[in-house]
Amino acid sequence: MNYTIYFDICAILILVFFILSLLIRRKIAGRNNYLMFSMLLLALTASVGDLAFVLLSDNAPASTVTQIWMHISCDIYFLSRNMILPIYVFFIYTSIGVWHALQTKKHLLIIWTVCDLIPIVALILNIFLPAVFRITPAKEYVSGPMTMIFHLIALVFAVWGILALIRYRKTVRIDKMIVLFFLYPLVIIAVLIQLYHPEIRVEMFGISVAMMTFMISIQSSENLVDPMVGALRYSAGIENLLNIIKTGKPSTILLVRIVNTGNILMYLGQEIHNHYLNKLSGQFRSMAASHRYRADLYYLEHGLYGFLSEDDQLEAAYETADEIRHYLALQHSVDDFDVLADARICIIQNPDDFDDFQSMFNFATSFHLTLPATRKILLYADYKDQPEFRIRNDLDDIIAKAISSEGFEMYYQPIYSAVENRFVCAEALIRLQDADYGFIPPALFIPIAEQNGSIHAIGDWVLRNVFRFMSENNMYELGLNYIEINLSASQCIEPDLVDRIEHLLEVYNLMPEQISLELTETAADIDPEIVDRNVKKLHNMGIRFALDDYGTGYSNIRRVVSLPIDQVKLDKSFVEAMNDPQMWIVIEDTITMLKEMGKEVLIEGVETPENADKFLKLKCDLLQGCEYIQGFFFCRPLPADEFIEFMRAHR
Ligand code: C2E
Ligand code: MG
Ligand code: MG
Repeated sequence: MNYTIYFDICAILILVFFILSLLIRRKIAGRNNYLMFSMLLLALTASVGDLAFVLLSDNAPASTVTQIWMHISCDIYFLSRNMILPIYVFFIYTSIGVWHALQTKKHLLIIWTVCDLIPIVALILNIFLPAVFRITPAKEYVSGPMTMIFHLIALVFAVWGILALIRYRKTVRIDKMIVLFFLYPLVIIAVLIQLYHPEIRVEMFGISVAMMTFMISIQSSENLVDPMVGALRYSAGIENLLNIIKTGKPSTILLVRIVNTGNILMYLGQEIHNHYLNKLSGQFRSMAASHRYRADLYYLEHGLYGFLSEDDQLEAAYETADEIRHYLALQHSVDDFDVLADARICIIQNPDDFDDFQSMFNFATSFHLTLPATRKILLYADYKDQPEFRIRNDLDDIIAKAISSEGFEMYYQPIYSAVENRFVCAEALIRLQDADYGFIPPALFIPIAEQNGSIHAIGDWVLRNVFRFMSENNMYELGLNYIEINLSASQCIEPDLVDRIEHLLEVYNLMPEQISLELTETAADIDPEIVDRNVKKLHNMGIRFALDDYGTGYSNIRRVVSLPIDQVKLDKSFVEAMNDPQMWIVIEDTITMLKEMGKEVLIEGVETPENADKFLKLKCDLLQGCEYIQGFFFCRPLPADEFIEFMRAHR
């Protein structure tokens, strides 16, 4: 038979190229790389066996020696080729990060081993009883009935791999899934061609093309490693974190956050900062290796490093963390600069600690703010049962429950007018009471709601509730000119904010002047264009605006000037510092400046009679005085009915 040998030659070239590339880049360590390397080697031996068989068959003289060599070539080909699909099943499990699922299922491992051994046994028996194939003295290849077993076993492993891909489809990116699946149609087509045209030796070429695809798309470490930092990239880290949560596999995660990374960057400049990060990556990795902490190191941006292990390795992670802690406590020199890092270290153990990605991600990126500011090694397990963390993790459910089952309530804090000497308005403040966690302060849940998007539903609920309250009670009789409602930053950029408020005013039959919306400076800054548009439209309708917490941010005075703001609320930090004479000068001058700009001024957080007195004594109608005072000294925020009673009593 005249065989086509070019496909085999191409396959050999492709495989040799990638084997060499793995060897040169030393990318053989790690289960996934090791499996890939094994498959490449097996494919290479199978291709060489096939090529040898073809060359002998077409060129060597018919003799017993040729017959034996052809037999050996066929054995090599069958053995190697038949090992590829079982290893490929393992490769799928490691590539999609569910190796642990296989490890725990002993029966699957037994099936794998048995199916793997059958062809080997069959080939050994074939020497004595040629039931798989035989080579005739005339160099003819004759297949026996046992060849079917090889096809059957290949089918078992193919179905196994496809089922694994289907079963774990949610844990893997679609592009990776497609690449992993790609091998099967390619091999099936090649096998069919070779079955009907045995002279076209295309099967190994099909397999080597599939391998090439993996090498280029999945295995390409250049896509994963950030060469600047010398650690795996953020995106790869996120994918693996997601995978850890979805599969519930055990993993010990070690987080190291350099909290002064901004300062170090400013001091070193970008290029030397990268050298510094690179140095840290190298040190961290060798420390992990010396403690046998088998984990990949990721750089998760902004000074955050994360080690992700494939199994439970608390002890090794702790020892590594301790060495990193000691190392970072020392001063290091980078390109002639001396650097001292300020680091926080925390260990997470999954699946015990987190069962949803968002909570874990939020925690990992902010643990340096939410856990105690200490240089000791922190274990999340020690904190996770504290109410604050339990609330953080459950907040999505808590908020959804509160919206549907009256868990929210509006309180009202009366605001005193120093001009009229009476309470003229009030601030609406939300309260959250949960059946399991009790009272949850807005300072805790509003920022989280802003992160997870539930702030829009909360904001809607607040507007409706306050508007209804105002329409059900006679504001004029209570002496209330308007009610102030806090708008969160994300609400300010809602494109339909104006329409919704207009609609609510109509439904509840209220005048726009009865509403004052409080903005914060972050809101005014996030998306100036859309905030401007919303604020200006609402202001033109007659709604009042106040700027809340003035003095806490960097107080962008340009925004105060450019937005149609009627009132500026000085933050309570001014009151806390007012006994400092220098600070008092700042307060007086700030008030004067705002008044000259035509703004009304309110001071928040007045708690004591002395503080109230000091503000009341300022001539509020002149430039030095603030017109409004709000604080516990006058009244704490009250539930709606108590607030009405209070207002009636103080008319
Ligand atoms: P804020 O808008 O600055 O509200 C004033 C906060 O100061 C309220 O805290 C109020 O109870 C508290 N406060 C009033 N007088 C005093 C005082 O004399 N001393 C002290 N130490 N505190 C005083 P609260 O109700 O816990 O709200 C905290 C923050 O949560 C609010 O700050 C606001 O930013 C946000 N928030 C509250 N309700 C809502 C709401 O309905 N929507 C939105 N988006 N945010 C809200
Ligand atoms: Mg406010
Ligand atoms: Mg405030």
